[in-house]
Amino acid sequence: MRIISRKTELEALISDFRSQGKTIGFVPTMGALHQGHLSLVAQSKAGTDVTVCSIFVNPTQFNDPADLQRYPRTPDKDAAMLEQAGCDVLFMPAVEEVYPEKDTRTFDFGRLGQVLDGAARPGHFNGVGQVLSILFAMVQPDKAYFGLKDYQQVQIVKRLVQLLHLPVQIVPCDILREPDGLAMSSRNALLGAEERAVAAFIPAIMQEAKQIYNDQGLEASEQYVQQAVAAHPLMKLDYYKICDRDTLEEQTRKSDNAIALIAVFVGKIRLIDNLFL
Ligand code: AMP
Repeated sequence: MRIISRKTELEALISDFRSQGKTIGFVPTMGALHQGHLSLVAQSKAGTDVTVCSIFVNPTQFNDPADLQRYPRTPDKDAAMLEQAGCDVLFMPAVEEVYPEKDTRTFDFGRLGQVLDGAARPGHFNGVGQVLSILFAMVQPDKAYFGLKDYQQVQIVKRLVQLLHLPVQIVPCDILREPDGLAMSSRNALLGAEERAVAAFIPAIMQEAKQIYNDQGLEASEQYVQQAVAAHPLMKLDYYKICDRDTLEEQTRKSDNAIALIAVFVGKIRLIDNLFL
């Protein structure tokens, strides 16, 4: 595996691959890798000739400086995991390499950018748009792989690609979970033992809420989640919403194209999850 930090070096390598007619798969990450990330690498390896993974903790997508500061960073372990997974290129640029000057661009993602995490984390998706437009320009991937754990992000990225007319196919990938059901996340490493145990209630609550949605309807499902989360002193509900899977429009009654999305603080750590209903 080639480990690269300079943009010029990456671009030379990519143009080599391109001249050999090789297809490029891209897995952008913020590091502190887990099996969920590696599942994207595996799908990229299966779908393209060369897999490029980036590790870059993008400052412009953090609306909370404390969140950026405590974001876990384990570069050596990450590189070893990627090597083991058969990744071809690891791109780990410094902030100045990605943003030689301040990025002042704003993207209009419409409703997709305004609801859910768009409302809860102002500027977050604009930062995602900034960094991905830059990384896509550097890597020039044929396909880019994104986890459905960040469901809204997948929708945003598809929109970004449309807005910028980029020749990249976005491949959504299933959520990987811990044995107790908790969606794998780099942020899970920040949970204390008690918080980690409590976090496992999130997927359990979501499953129960799905059952209630199907048996008793939307309002009953929402009420259940509010009560169930409030019953755990370490958890605080940021949002639980039932939306249309494509438009993310909030639903007022049962539909067959619905997804439930949740954001919960466990202690200081904010976790997200979702489930098709
Ligand atoms: P992150 O490093 O958190 O920015 O995530 C990088 C990519 O990995 C994103 O496309 C995430 O959606 C994806 N990802 C994170 N957690 C999981 C998971 N549990 N299962 C599948 N993909 C994931």
